[in-house]
Amino acid sequence: MKITRRKTRTINLGGVKIGGTSPVSVQSMTKTDTMDVAATVAQIKELELAGCDIVRTAVKDASCCDALAKIMKKINIPLEADIHFDYRLAIKAIEAGVDGVRLNPGNVYKKDEIAAVINLAKKRHIPVRVGVNSGSVRPHGARAIKLQSGRSEPRLPELMVKTASDYLKLIESLGFRDLMVSLKCSDVPQTIDAYRLMAKKCDYPFHLGVTAAGPELSGTVKSTLGIGILLAEGIGDTIRVSLTGDPVQEVIVGKNIIQGLGLRRFGPEVLSCPTCGRTEVDIIGIANKVEQALGKIKDKKGKLSSLRVAVMGCVVNGPGEAKEADLGIAAGKGSGFLFIKGKPARKIKESEFVSAIVTEINKILKG
Ligand code: SF4
Repeated sequence: MKITRRKTRTINLGGVKIGGTSPVSVQSMTKTDTMDVAATVAQIKELELAGCDIVRTAVKDASCCDALAKIMKKINIPLEADIHFDYRLAIKAIEAGVDGVRLNPGNVYKKDEIAAVINLAKKRHIPVRVGVNSGSVRPHGARAIKLQSGRSEPRLPELMVKTASDYLKLIESLGFRDLMVSLKCSDVPQTIDAYRLMAKKCDYPFHLGVTAAGPELSGTVKSTLGIGILLAEGIGDTIRVSLTGDPVQEVIVGKNIIQGLGLRRFGPEVLSCPTCGRTEVDIIGIANKVEQALGKIKDKKGKLSSLRVAVMGCVVNGPGEAKEADLGIAAGKGSGFLFIKGKPARKIKESEFVSAIVTEINKILKG
């Protein structure tokens, strides 16, 4: 399947390009108190190490903006300020040096207030995200949709798209187009509908996400469905997986969604069988150890990210999968066969599986 990305404008958020032919970027959000500069910087560094491209930080009052100025001096990835209710926080955040702001049309909606933020964003050359959330969408568009459609109640995706469209028109009338859009619901089908509808109406890049997706497991599944289905249709330019949990996990899941669709490579792919009654070695432990070991290998030239490593439990599918990968192990009882670039290389003991893979990877990286 070839994914053809939707044609969009390109914006630049602190050096990370979003939209057009730019790679789909991964975002997360800090979960520390923004006023705790040390804790927030430490979390942003952890996110950066995990491969996060852009971080967002909540700005709940003016003191957060003072903290933002300090945080900005200590981090290496772009930061977007998350603004709700008070446009003056957006102004202060921009003055503190942030790389972008998110405005919520549900709670920052007065024309003169929006204009004040947009005029400053224009002056500082930073983009603005129109971030509509199902939980804070304003009912002001509902009447218009009711009248147009003849339905008694507008559907939530239509209401969200109308809200975003009206907001975008207002901002465009101010001569500003460095914009991206998000339309997040906690319901996966409604999220998908909203983005699909919006994709027909504008050429702004989209920030994808399913909001309040849930704890780690259910949140991962919902985010993978919502974000994955849209990305597979070519819709979406930057993503944030929202989990009630560690933000580093949001980045890992986000990277896996993008890599799983073949849109971008972040690291080597470990293919491993689910194990079954035929398995006679600890494939679960070995696959996890291989993944951890690969994560620790330094790869300055980026060669590692294109590699596929197969860890298979028996001779049913093992040799076939192992042959397809750059490196592979087809295990038997207490030993296995190592395949390099599709060719059987040598028999190895179970205790040597992980070290043999690491040795061969290092040879590939040196070669
Ligand atoms: S590769 Fe072999 S051990 Fe692994 S799941 Fe398939 S049949 Fe079972």
